[in-house]
Amino acid sequence: MTRCFLLLVDGLGRDLAEAELAAGTLPNIASMVARGGRACAITAFPSTTSVAYLPLLTGCTPGRCDIPSIRWLDRTRYGGHWWRDRAAVRSYCGYQARLLDADLAPDVRTVFELVPKSVALFTPVARGLSADRDPARLARQLWGGVAHFARWHQPSDRSVARHLAAATESGARFVFAQFPAVDGYTHQDGPTAPAVRRALRKVDAVVGRLIARLGVRDELDRSLVLLVSDHGAAAVHTHVDLADWCRARGIPTLAHPLLWARAPRAAVMVAGNGSAMIYARPDKPRSVRWSLDRLRRPDAFGSREDLLAALVREAAVALVAAEEEDGAVRVASWEGEAELRRRGPGMAYRPLTGDPLGIGGPWMATDREWLEATWDAEYPDAAYQLLDQFRSPRTGDLVVVARAGYDFRRRWEIPEHHAGHGSLARAHMQTPVWSSEPLPGGPFRTVDLFPAMLRWLGVEPPCALDGSAHWQPEPGQVAVSREEPVSVSTEPGAPSSVG
Ligand SMILES: [Zn+2]
Repeated sequence: MTRCFLLLVDGLGRDLAEAELAAGTLPNIASMVARGGRACAITAFPSTTSVAYLPLLTGCTPGRCDIPSIRWLDRTRYGGHWWRDRAAVRSYCGYQARLLDADLAPDVRTVFELVPKSVALFTPVARGLSADRDPARLARQLWGGVAHFARWHQPSDRSVARHLAAATESGARFVFAQFPAVDGYTHQDGPTAPAVRRALRKVDAVVGRLIARLGVRDELDRSLVLLVSDHGAAAVHTHVDLADWCRARGIPTLAHPLLWARAPRAAVMVAGNGSAMIYARPDKPRSVRWSLDRLRRPDAFGSREDLLAALVREAAVALVAAEEEDGAVRVASWEGEAELRRRGPGMAYRPLTGDPLGIGGPWMATDREWLEATWDAEYPDAAYQLLDQFRSPRTGDLVVVARAGYDFRRRWEIPEHHAGHGSLARAHMQTPVWSSEPLPGGPFRTVDLFPAMLRWLGVEPPCALDGSAHWQPEPGQVAVSREEPVSVSTEPGAPSSVG
């Protein structure tokens, strides 16, 4: 019987992870990847906890899951009455966290539904788990509270480690274990703070104990151990509270926790806090999103000023995106506008008045080619991620992406965040994949790991996955040298230029 252990170190960016590995401070992980492999994975946008777990636990992107962010508003149902319409607004950061499982698109399957002998520890996504397969649920609430108020995150990781040992002995086929301390200390002290490094080294010790335990059980060869993350992080020097920014322009704005704005003209839903969705006229339910040109009209936000022009002039804003009537996505920055659209198995990018994604001109390529060309760019995989956002009907009219160093929440972020994530910035999007089995060359999307884990477990993947079969690990596979060229493309080719 094969087993799979998915260990997720929340908030572990690729740069810090690789630097610690190179410095020799993670000896257990180093010996695991020497036998297996390591790679860079691009997470999902918005690069924030819960949302960015979905690709790993469902094989589907946040847009496909219809969970486009940690806060959203249902434009078709919200009518401007904060109490009567409260069920049409979400924040998974508070008491509504338990609604996430029911909010997931009904045809999406979690790994817990597909692999009944699963155990998950400290998971915000729990669809398909009975209480006994989510044994740390109460500990997560308890230690989560301690972490928030006492700024002490290590007890959570210790609890996860204890439960992981028990799950290993229980023979569970799939084990998901989330370690929250790295993310907690990152927000508090910065992404490379000593407390962050200490927390990571303690995870290394947990990996050592897990590998040793699997060795004693004679299960090492049949166990796939993956250490991944949901997002990285970067230091934040300036908070620009986007809701206050709108209010300062005379726009009545609702945003968590101030949902009782009278006759709101805008709703601002922040994630991570490096990105936000803005909904125009949330007091009037409607089924379609407004395009960039429609959002520019004075009646969109009830402001005489061109709000979009003001937004892209802000130093804090890297880019904004909105959906056109025909399904294309219009991306704008201070440099101008460009258009993105799906074309068969690929994506087409066409600069109009500028090149906000920095591609250098029009380009059409498969999803895999986009990933390989942009995984190390300033905004890795931005085309795929922005198109995905607008697959969800719950996404706002406007998606706003912060520039590195800035975030969009000040007043209600207590304690203050000194580092953050949530945007498309490289440091937020790049995460490590450390594996006990050899990996193919090239970058991954985190969503590609899902079909790989199912294959290892011998479970048939559901047909409509976003994850590609980039990696197909099998027990007893002959080790592939990392220097050896590996064919990576699994998608049909596409013309190399926009027609
Ligand atoms: Zn975080």
